[in-house]
Amino acid sequence: MLQTRNGNSNPITEKEQLDLSIVVPIYNEAESLTHLIEAIARVVAITHLSYEIICVDDGSTDGSTKILTDLARQRSDLKAVILRRNYGQTPAMAAGFENAQARAIITLDGDLQNDPHDIPLLLDKLNEGYDLVSGWRKQRQDATLTRLIPSKIANWIIGNVTGVKLHDYGCSLKAYRSELVADMNLYGELHRFLPALAYIEGARITEIPVRHHPRRYGTSKYGLGRTIRVIMDLLTVFFMKKFLTKPMHVFGFWGLLSLVSGIVMGLYLTIVKLFMGQNIGDRPLLILSVLLILTGIELFSFGLLAELLMRTYHESQKRPIYRVREVIE
Ligand code: UDP
Ligand code: MG
Repeated sequence: MLQTRNGNSNPITEKEQLDLSIVVPIYNEAESLTHLIEAIARVVAITHLSYEIICVDDGSTDGSTKILTDLARQRSDLKAVILRRNYGQTPAMAAGFENAQARAIITLDGDLQNDPHDIPLLLDKLNEGYDLVSGWRKQRQDATLTRLIPSKIANWIIGNVTGVKLHDYGCSLKAYRSELVADMNLYGELHRFLPALAYIEGARITEIPVRHHPRRYGTSKYGLGRTIRVIMDLLTVFFMKKFLTKPMHVFGFWGLLSLVSGIVMGLYLTIVKLFMGQNIGDRPLLILSVLLILTGIELFSFGLLAELLMRTYHESQKRPIYRVREVIE
């Protein structure tokens, strides 16, 4: 059922004993921690899958670290990854992915806003052959003005820019095949763009409605400020999607167009000056011609640089420019 990654040798075979890794970023969630882990374990026990819970403590200062450490010593199904300081949700999730050993990975929030009871539903969907199943908080329980409205707008923009149509990119409750996660690098607030990044990697993506509860313990770590960071990350994703393997096609084309039209105008003006003896010093066309030539050269050389960078990016990480789903012999 599971796919080969991309033909390169990889160490996953040795890791593929567990069925399920559950990754939870934790930043100051002391009150919910114990409930959360028990709730997850109870739900997963019903499925009879072998599993591990990986809680990543993202530099908590409210005692979560201690609670987590103690729990991890007691429970064999819990692994605590303690980060040195607070890095943010995306790096915390990346640390969790790095430590996850199973064939399927589930992520969810540490505040019990996501409901562990949805985990089996996500897994069923994954088993239908999807690479990523995203939760959709159909009845989201957060503040309307600061959270729901910005999120509606952001979801609309992200959908249009990335071409992956989901209702709710921000939902942390998601299920992934592990090979997919291994192929992706996370930066900034990129975790919400995992579906888009996965789509770039050629994944099959779907979403299902999931439950969502109001925060019972602790406080939300985010406000309106996140929207701006999300927009910046959106630009990065858009750029990656469009130009990643062929920057020269884009910059080269526009650069050349600009350069050639600038030169044509320049030639025309030269003829006017030399053969017709007219004065060209005050002609707007002259400025336009110079501008187009300069822009053209700039775009063209930018394209060349981007092309070099792209090669370094792929070759330094041995990232193939394609992804194989399966090889059948
Ligand atoms: N989180 C984290 N590091 C941070 C901020 C948040 O690990 O710097 C975790 C947090 O503990 C929670 C999840 O990310 O498990 C989502 O955060 P929160 O519930 O505050 O976001 P919201 O649900 O309000 O969008
Ligand atoms: Mg929350």
